[in-house]
Amino acid sequence: MKVRQSDLKTFGECGRRYYYSRILGLGGDKSGSLTVMGTVWHFAVDVYENYDYDLDLAKRTFVHYWENPKALGERIDFWHRSTTHEGLRKRGLSMLERYHELAPWRQGRRLGSEIHFEVPIGNHVLEGTIDKLWARPGKKRLEIVDFKTGAAVPEKLRHNIQFTAYCYATERPEFWQYVPGHEDGFQEFAGWQRGGWWYHARNNKMFNAGNREAADYKKLALAVEEMDNAVQANVFPLDIKGESCGYCAFAEGTCGSEMKDPR
Ligand code: SF4
Repeated sequence: MKVRQSDLKTFGECGRRYYYSRILGLGGDKSGSLTVMGTVWHFAVDVYENYDYDLDLAKRTFVHYWENPKALGERIDFWHRSTTHEGLRKRGLSMLERYHELAPWRQGRRLGSEIHFEVPIGNHVLEGTIDKLWARPGKKRLEIVDFKTGAAVPEKLRHNIQFTAYCYATERPEFWQYVPGHEDGFQEFAGWQRGGWWYHARNNKMFNAGNREAADYKKLALAVEEMDNAVQANVFPLDIKGESCGYCAFAEGTCGSEMKDPR
């Protein structure tokens, strides 16, 4: 089974939503204005990182694609409450300026950004994209930075599986073929601590996601294995608490519609 890091998150929130979107291919992932702005912002930051931290170029890139999100394969299906085209344009530019000013970026060595990878995990393949990977030689620590433009910060980042998946990937020799200029990274960073940062772009704050180690990777492998077991058995539990339903495009008309009415 090939599992995307985002699949783990979706499946963890609601197996049934995973079933509708990934097994039945029903779509249902309507893109809101904040999501599209986040995608454009990520792209502009990637340009910033790859073109010598050129803030003006990053800002022009952001404006260009914000005006033409289709050029990035994006489309705004609906506007979140209190968002406007102009307001999000200003917000994106402001976030770029603040990112540029963030001093900690100058304390490490950037290894790559927007790193798409596929690595083995047990009998499966784990796929994902790392926003930014950098090394802190003084601490012998490899750090994953994940940019968030809108999401609320989870309370327990230490156990966040997204960072576990990314840290795990960097421990695999196959990963380093995806990091140009650092193909020997498996040897170079062997034995270094792995950890993560959640960068909250809107508030310009970094939240430490903690370190990851062998026990975390075992749990990740178990999660992938159990997800595969569920898919093979065609078992897709609902979000029984209903906490994800308010954000789910399948809440109206799709979810449960295949069931007989119990009344
Ligand atoms: S409406 Fe709720 S239970 Fe149904 S698929 Fe969506 S998140 Fe899952």
